[in-house]
Amino acid sequence: MPPPQRLTMLNDDARMRVIVTGGLGFIGSVTALRFNAAGNSVLVVDSVESNVVSAIDLRAVGIEVIEDSVANYLAACGTIEADLVVHAASPVGAAGVLRHPFGIAEHIVGATAAVGKACLAAGARLCHISSSEVYGLDGVLSERTSPRVPVEHSARVEYALGKLTSEAVLAGLARRGLKHSCLRPFNVVGARQSRFGGFVLPTFVQQALAGLPITVFSDGGQTRAFLDVEDLVDFIVAAASSQHAFQSACFNVGNPANSCSILELAQRTRVLLCSSSQIEFVDATEIYGPDYVEGASRHKLCHVERALALGWRPHRSLDEIIRAVAEHYRVRRDMRNSDARDNHALPARHSPAR
Ligand code: UDP
Repeated sequence: MPPPQRLTMLNDDARMRVIVTGGLGFIGSVTALRFNAAGNSVLVVDSVESNVVSAIDLRAVGIEVIEDSVANYLAACGTIEADLVVHAASPVGAAGVLRHPFGIAEHIVGATAAVGKACLAAGARLCHISSSEVYGLDGVLSERTSPRVPVEHSARVEYALGKLTSEAVLAGLARRGLKHSCLRPFNVVGARQSRFGGFVLPTFVQQALAGLPITVFSDGGQTRAFLDVEDLVDFIVAAASSQHAFQSACFNVGNPANSCSILELAQRTRVLLCSSSQIEFVDATEIYGPDYVEGASRHKLCHVERALALGWRPHRSLDEIIRAVAEHYRVRRDMRNSDARDNHALPARHSPAR
């Protein structure tokens, strides 16, 4: 098995032109910064709907930023010039997707198909950030598991179907020559992730730091495997330099070593941060409204042998991640939710940020 690959400074010949869609968001910004730090030329395209960094932050380190939707950008430029496109632009989060009812699948598929066609025309490789939501199933999920997303309506189902259909569209483009891979990340977490989309870790950490009740949904017995965002970007980088990754394979990217129940996560967060917060069992619909639905997988755990075969390894433990998120939010407010002390200042009850 090859050793784990970390992106190092490239010489001029090996410099790549990398486009990161959604590059002001949580996963996209870490990706853009990493490729930039390694000496590549990076262009970010982001609609600034769920950004966690500003264009100013990225321009300050030499990243070019276009503040527009992927569809508008591609329509305006006609053709792209890139060696690699990382398509991370997408509505995100169980609460975040509630802001786009009845348009979310169309939005995801439309943007992904346009990016896929642009990559095919330009001969660029495409790393598509799909989702572990495509499985729609419970338990330990491997790429050999057949996805079974239910045909019923919720914004969450629309999201999963949008991601699954996008994978199908890209597989079709691959038959015409597109070189791409689809990543199915499992519960990515880390500093800068916003609680705005409803994500559990930034919510628990900000609640614990503020001494507010930690809101565990249902009985907290649901389990997840948490992957540090830097580990995810390690995988993107490893894939970018692999001969095999762009042969239209899907990869689960997750960290089985960081599996735990949500109640356990609340307890660990409380203890690690020496917080006086109480743990409160709440019905999520009381916070996010009646349209909020839990994931189809009560136990969403990952089989990652295919990703490991590329030489990649996740490194960061859950405790390290909790501390890093806390370090971030001790000195900063959540970029998407300016009053983190207000436990109910949450997106479903507020008009969109823009
Ligand atoms: N969760 C919770 N309290 C919160 C937010 C989330 O108990 O304030 C739970 C949620 O019910 C889910 C898990 O944490 O079972 C992970 O939620 P997240 O939205 O981060 O990711 P998901 O796996 O649902 O996509």
